[in-house]
Amino acid sequence: MATLEIRGLTVTVDVEDGTKEILRGVDLTVKSGETHAIMGPNGSGKSTLAYSIAGHPKYTVTGGTVTLDGEDVLAMKVDERARAGLFLAMQYPVEVPGVTVSNFLRTAKTAIDGQAPKLRHWVKDMKGAMEALRMDPTFAERNVNEGFSGGEKKRHEILQMELLKPKIAILDETDSGLDVDALRVVSEGVNRAKDSSEVGVLLITHYTRILRYIKPDFVHVFVDGKIVEEGGPELADRLEAEGYDRYLATQA
Ligand code: ADP
Ligand code: MG
Ligand code: MG
Repeated sequence: MATLEIRGLTVTVDVEDGTKEILRGVDLTVKSGETHAIMGPNGSGKSTLAYSIAGHPKYTVTGGTVTLDGEDVLAMKVDERARAGLFLAMQYPVEVPGVTVSNFLRTAKTAIDGQAPKLRHWVKDMKGAMEALRMDPTFAERNVNEGFSGGEKKRHEILQMELLKPKIAILDETDSGLDVDALRVVSEGVNRAKDSSEVGVLLITHYTRILRYIKPDFVHVFVDGKIVEEGGPELADRLEAEGYDRYLATQA
């Protein structure tokens, strides 16, 4: 049982002529086994929320707290956050020349578990997860993110999530740029991870279509740096029908 708790989080980003406040008081609790969708228009600060929890140096936390089972996440180094059980889907989007997917995943697994996985089990787990994600076996020997297509990057992220077995997974726009088939494969991967462990999922998305495949327990509407409405899955249906206009109209 794990709980990620975000309270009154305010974050600024450095811009050319100073700093700009992006997150303006975010409150959110994600527990093991729950799936939360954060939905909001472009530029509302959704990725900033994900990056801030990940510890990206560009984002400065100016107020509020983030804890995982009571531990201060904001005081942790990036690798400590991963070891504590946090997984960020865009944590490794950079190319890593000379490091294969296979080596990268095994190193990450070793760092997170504190010991190397037994080779026989590991090879089997990895092969199984790759097959389930319909990834060609040769993918394991390619360098991380080097020349990956959008769909390959997303599959690689879900492969990491399935193998690293985090307590809380934050998936930022995992659906963007995927065709329907890839979206289904990636969503199935998330659902497998949910079924096989008690992972809590924070699914950040602009569009409702991924929510046809991954059913959220809670939906949070995110506008202008904070959550403006919360509800169950029916809220996603309403957003699909009505869009974000009603929230933007009240901004002024
Ligand atoms: P979303 O993911 O909801 O589309 P973002 O968190 O990417 O929103 O961006 C929110 C706002 O913060 C935008 O106005 C964006 O231009 C600004 N912003 C985010 N990251 C940076 C950055 N590294 N430098 C400058 N501005 C940024
Ligand atoms: Mg939020
Ligand atoms: Mg974003």
